[in-house]
Formats: sequence, C-alpha cells, structure tokens
Amino acid sequence: MRGAVMHAPGDVRVEDRPDPTIIEPTDAIIRLSATCICGSDLWPYRGIEALDGATPMGHEYCGIVEEVGSAVTTIRPGQFVVGSFWASDGTCEICRAGYQSACTHRTLMGTIGTQAEYARIPLADGTLVATREVPSADLVPHHLAASDVLGTGWFAAVAAEVGPGKTVAVVGDGAVGLMGVLAARQLGAERIIAMSRHEDRQKLALDLGATDIVTERGDDGVERVMELTRGLGAHSVIEAVGTQEAMLQAIRSCRPGGHVGFVGLTHEATIGGMDLFMSLVHLHGGPAPVRRFLPQHLDLIADGTIEPGKVFDLTLPLERAADGYTAMDERRAIKTLLTV
Ligand SMILES: [Zn+2]
Repeated sequence: MRGAVMHAPGDVRVEDRPDPTIIEPTDAIIRLSATCICGSDLWPYRGIEALDGATPMGHEYCGIVEEVGSAVTTIRPGQFVVGSFWASDGTCEICRAGYQSACTHRTLMGTIGTQAEYARIPLADGTLVATREVPSADLVPHHLAASDVLGTGWFAAVAAEVGPGKTVAVVGDGAVGLMGVLAARQLGAERIIAMSRHEDRQKLALDLGATDIVTERGDDGVERVMELTRGLGAHSVIEAVGTQEAMLQAIRSCRPGGHVGFVGLTHEATIGGMDLFMSLVHLHGGPAPVRRFLPQHLDLIADGTIEPGKVFDLTLPLERAADGYTAMDERRAIKTLLTV
C-alpha cells in the first residue's frame, strides 16, 4: 500500500509500506476513505519533537472495515467506521468512566500511521464506532473530523463546563479551537468569544457559532474578555493552543469559580504558583477521550445538525501529503484532508 512517512523534519514522502495484517485477534483492518494532517504532526515536522528514524505518519481515520480478527464481535467487514487517535478496549475501569484516552490497554494510533491506504486498528470492538449506513462522499469529511478535532474541541468544552446561560472564551483559532466554538454552541452557551487574529478563521468561527471576536492576545486579550464580561471573566474557557502564553491567557480570562478546559498540547508551559493559586479556577484537560463522544457525534452528523468537516480548507490526494504538510506549516491551511 501507499502511505506517508516522515524521514526528517520537513521531509515527508508518500511511499510503499507493507500492507497491514491482523496481528492480535482483537484487530481490524480498514480501508481508509480519507485521512488528514494534525497540528501535532507539525511538531516533528518542525524539528521540535525528535523523530526516531523514518516514521509512518497519521492518527486520524475513517473508512470501511476489510477484515476482522477472530475475537472481534461487534465490528463487521463492510461497515463504515470512525475511531479515535487512541485505540481503547472500552471495558477497563478508566474507559467505563469515559476516559478512553487513558485506557489501561491503550495504543497510540500515531504509532501505526493512518496517512495510508489501509490501517490496522487494535481493540476494534472498543475503538471503532460504526455508522448506521455508509455515508455519502460529501459526509466523509465530517466523519473524519469526528476522529480527532471535533471530539477534542468538544472535550475541552465539556471540561470547561460549558452550558446554557454561560459565557465561553475560546483561546486558539486552529481546527480544535474552531471545534470548541461548535461544541460550545451545541452545548447551549449564551455567548461565545472566539480569540482570533486571522480574518478567514474569524469568519469560520462566526459561522460555527461565535458571538464575539477578540483579536488581541496575551494581556490585551484578557483585558478585552474582561470588558465583555463586566470585569468578571468568562464562566468557561477553552485553551486550544498549548503555549505558555495561551495557557496563562486562558486562566486569566476565566472568572473565579469558572472552568478552564485545556487540550492544546502543552510542551513547555510553566504556570507560576501565584497565577495558579490566585486564579480560583478549575483546570481540567489533557489528551481528549474522543471515543466517549463518537456515538453522539456520528448521530449529529447523520442528522445534519453539525458540519465539523468545515475545518478542512485544503483537500489533496494522499500522494501529495508533503504539500499538505507544507501548507499547514506555512499556515496557508487550517487543516488538510487527504483523499485515499
Ligand atoms: Zn480501557
């Protein structure tokens, strides 16, 4: 099969990779309908995260089941399925509590590499959710978004206790931040403040449900949120960037007693003790348990209630994955969909 492999920072090639096979009886093999490039794929691309030799890339996926192992009971060949970037058994105590991204048997799908024609999915019964019917081609991007960015933005909103009557501030206008806006709208927020400096992303945020745009960042951004909330701060803040500045901006934009849901990959953020102590905010976040929300999200997509695939603003064939990385690295694209 063909698949994207990163050889060094800035060097992604689509090349022949071995066809995946069933290794464990709980595995399934899927034929990808589409895959995509994640903001986190840019960390090794930019040399910020070390690469351990040539590495197959990709952890977002949806597609048709080709084959299942002997122990798989609920997933069948021919089904259209979506899974998350962590494979999870769905049965351990942590999974049953809704934290599948910390499953005691979890496998990171990035170690498998789903920017490819086929992929092996471990723990298929726990990991995969099948749709009621095979979706039409125009619905595939929405399902693909449900594999990561939708569930991640949604988890941030849930962690930030978004709900009716609340004011929500969203720090970050990347794909996850934009999905946080969508989630806040669906969860009934009264006011949604999107913090964005880019005109095209502001437009998309408004389209997805934002009511206010704040273009300032850092302390100036915090000040604008305070002005919009009678000096109190937002009830709920979604942090979807992962830098020191964004994390502090999120905590400082939140009112005492409020909640910050953080899902940006915080590589080197350091929160000062006094910032933390004096904030009086709840902090909850981490790698999102996307699997928790998948059944609900696939229903909302099937009903036409949400269109999370709007975050894909560049579509390329898998063979041109390298161009997709370049476009995202240069911020010419929010998120690249690769057709398979
Ligand atoms: Zn588990």
